[in-house]
Amino acid sequence: MLIDTYGRVATDLRVSLTDRCNLRCTYCMPEEGLQWLAKPDLLTDDEIVRLITIAVRDLGIEEVRFTGGEPLLRPGLPGIVERVAALTPRPQMSLTTNGIGLQRTAAALRDAGLDRVNVSLDTLRPEVFQALTRRKRHDDVLRGLDAARAAGLTPVKVNAVLMPGLNDDEAPDLLAWAIAHDYELRFIEQMPLDAQHGWKRDGMITAGDILTSLRTRFTLTPEGQEERGSAPAERWLVDGGPHRVGVIASVTRPFCRACDRTRLTADGQIRTCLFATEETDLRTALRSGAPDDEIARLWETAMWGKKAGSGLDDPSFLQPERPMSSIGG
Ligand code: SAM
Ligand code: SF4
Repeated sequence: MLIDTYGRVATDLRVSLTDRCNLRCTYCMPEEGLQWLAKPDLLTDDEIVRLITIAVRDLGIEEVRFTGGEPLLRPGLPGIVERVAALTPRPQMSLTTNGIGLQRTAAALRDAGLDRVNVSLDTLRPEVFQALTRRKRHDDVLRGLDAARAAGLTPVKVNAVLMPGLNDDEAPDLLAWAIAHDYELRFIEQMPLDAQHGWKRDGMITAGDILTSLRTRFTLTPEGQEERGSAPAERWLVDGGPHRVGVIASVTRPFCRACDRTRLTADGQIRTCLFATEETDLRTALRSGAPDDEIARLWETAMWGKKAGSGLDDPSFLQPERPMSSIGG
């Protein structure tokens, strides 16, 4: 299994399928986009399935989440999902997406074996969406969300990042809308993972700000630690339930002690943390003919080196070179 020196065991694998994206969220990428990974450097579908197979069969991974960049831009996604669904033991499979194109693909992904989706949507206002993502695609995201629910990719979760001066007044409206549509809303604190290094701790909207804003309209009752388990989101019952809202406070209330994740980038590197500054290269091993057990050992060694925490509160904190879109959020 994948265990580190602090006794944490990784059972949740995040797989980035591409670093490319069709949006340009201000907290993630610059307007002009980024220097994308070169095609030969990307793992092929077969290589991805082989690594996931090793992770599930030999290393105790129970849950696989596909992300990116925008994972729906990867043409082979339905085939990858289908092949992972055929593994024994069969892992839970989910997808984090900006929702563009989900209207067309949700049913096929469900048929292929996908269990759930998280759709990122930060605002209910089309003009704010355009300012935040630099694209006019608000409607596509809403239609993608509808399609996900209709296809049974439930519970459909919605991820929202609040940015000062843009959508920081929208928390209660987003929650009322999510409840009306039966989506589970989670706010994510903005993290220093943007390619342009524009994050400022002073300027960010904190979990405390979000909760204060929500409490102007809703009564929130905290869920216990038992229900939370290793989930990054702290959750609250809204107005006594059954609806809930989550806050992922990676900056102000980090949950590193309960972290159960390992990450695979689209170019075949293992990262033990979003904020890791070191990676373990599985692609070279794969392509030089290493057998499965050797790859599993490399992965275990990477996990053994996992740091205690993100280091965000350390004065010597350095933002990782890879931005969020290339790590896989
Ligand atoms: N493109 C897909 C999407 O947007 O859902 C998947 C990749 S995206 C990197 C995954 C999640 O990371 C999204 O919910 C996005 O809002 C979030 N994200 C991106 N940059 C972030 C940042 N700097 N701080 C916090 N969350 C961020
Ligand atoms: Fe694309 Fe997701 Fe980054 Fe937005 S957050 S630019 S949708 S990868």
